[in-house]
Amino acid sequence: MNAQFPPDEFEEEAAEAVARPDLDREIELCVSGGMRTQDAVAPVRLEPTDRFRFACHRGISCWNACCHGADVTLTPCDILRLSRRLALRPAQFLERHAVPAVHAASGMPVAKLKMAGDDGKGLCFFAGDEGCAVYADRPLTCRYYPLGLVSHKLKESPRREDFHFLVTEPHCRGHAESRSQTVEDFRAEQGVAEYEAVNRGWVDILMKLASWASLGGPMGKAPSPQTRQMFFMVSTDVDRFRRFVFETRFLDVYDVPAETLERIRVDDAALLQLGFDWLKSVLFNERTLAMQPAVLQAAVAKARSETGGS
Ligand code: SF4
Ligand code: SF4
Repeated sequence: MNAQFPPDEFEEEAAEAVARPDLDREIELCVSGGMRTQDAVAPVRLEPTDRFRFACHRGISCWNACCHGADVTLTPCDILRLSRRLALRPAQFLERHAVPAVHAASGMPVAKLKMAGDDGKGLCFFAGDEGCAVYADRPLTCRYYPLGLVSHKLKESPRREDFHFLVTEPHCRGHAESRSQTVEDFRAEQGVAEYEAVNRGWVDILMKLASWASLGGPMGKAPSPQTRQMFFMVSTDVDRFRRFVFETRFLDVYDVPAETLERIRVDDAALLQLGFDWLKSVLFNERTLAMQPAVLQAAVAKARSETGGS
């Protein structure tokens, strides 16, 4: 079934983007705050070369304690990796292993890893006596632990800065171990770089929307239901977004280079990149995805006629 392109309300919101003031400002976004942030105490900012003591191993007295009621927001890369690992398509993975949630700072819909128990405070379904059954493809939050990640951007800076902090939760005995490592060595060992590269656009969008939300929303409004729906589609279901690109008027409107088109037919990470570029161009009027020349000319002419310009 073909998806409608684009939903009316989303199109209206996209049109408004051109007129929006630049509301980007100093903003911090906690991308990952540990697996049970409510218990976290004394977060300490760490630089890449700072050292911290921590080790986690089979036989430690708290084995699996962190996987009870874990608060794991699933990033786009998590969903791709876990779906592939379990031989599921992302929509199937979400249906079986995720629960819907709202990202508090931005108000955008996200998926969280499902935990056992009616209250979601039970053990993770992937946890077993031997540890994590999906360890090689475990989510980013689980990789970072016991580090949290904050993305930080100053209004005047073109670049985002990420920094980590140590999450010390009473149940985790790993901090009492003697092993010491730097933040950068821990990050390399945990293999977080690939995840961060795939998730970059997603974090950019959440950061900007969080900045707007803190000011009452763009043009005084929260993102429309259609905007939230589009964001959720791109972030969680590459199959649906691929159909959206190839089976709607998307390619009549946007000028996607031929080599990118070939790539996104088979490369889910490349498709995600296109999706986040598309959302940024629509939501923030960023020049991340070009329109077809004829469509752009028509849009400019329409805007001029509406404003009485020549
Ligand atoms: S995915 Fe693995 S590491 Fe993460 S909460 Fe579940 S069992 Fe623990
Ligand atoms: S040491 Fe910490 S991370 Fe490792 S199993 Fe125990 S609670 Fe989990």
